[in-house]
Amino acid sequence: MSFDEVLSEQFPGAMLEADFVDRCSRVLRGAHGFRPDNALACVGVCRDELCRPLSVAVQAHWQETFSLHSLAAMVIVGKTGFAAVRSHAPQVDGRERYVFFFAPHMGLGPGGEPGDVQRIGHAGPTAACGALAAFLAELHRGRIDVRFDRHDIEQSLLKQRLLEELDLRRLPNLLALTRAAYAAGLADIEGLIEDTLDPARQDYAVLTGIQIHGPEHVNHLWPGACYAVVGGQRFDITP
Ligand SMILES: [Zn+2]
Repeated sequence: MSFDEVLSEQFPGAMLEADFVDRCSRVLRGAHGFRPDNALACVGVCRDELCRPLSVAVQAHWQETFSLHSLAAMVIVGKTGFAAVRSHAPQVDGRERYVFFFAPHMGLGPGGEPGDVQRIGHAGPTAACGALAAFLAELHRGRIDVRFDRHDIEQSLLKQRLLEELDLRRLPNLLALTRAAYAAGLADIEGLIEDTLDPARQDYAVLTGIQIHGPEHVNHLWPGACYAVVGGQRFDITP
């Protein structure tokens, strides 16, 4: 199979990631009153340098962004981090506005090989997401170390959180594990929003998906949940 075939089969509706950011941002600005001068954008992607273009695209639309980054884009920023987000947002016309972009990631090789990505200066493919690939290897060895290692904090939290999400009667492959990371992250962001934001005076947008690194260093994005909540009312956004 080819990259394009696997992309459309596994990630229907995937588009160039710059187009995803562009379209969502235009809808927010045109229809829902979000602007760079009245909203704070937050971005949660993996620490991998391959993920950086998504942050750059968001910054081009929304100016400086608050970082929610972690290995595999797991949402570990917590209530203290969200309290910082809340206190940093502009206060315009008596309202605060937040734009949350969130996407875990995976490589997809020229033949659609899950996880494979060709990095500059490497003779062969390497894994993306490396943190998820490392956890996947542990799962398939049948020996999972779930102790909290303070010298490997993010990976410890990743494993503990994803074990809640997985049904281990069937071992996942990398695609399934990436989708589990997406589901966990989306639930955790929505949980933090519910705990910390007040829709009576705070509007927000949740723009999420899975970032896919294809051949020739081109990033795509499969759109997941995308919506805005304005004045307490939810509006779905189609990128
Ligand atoms: Zn990663």
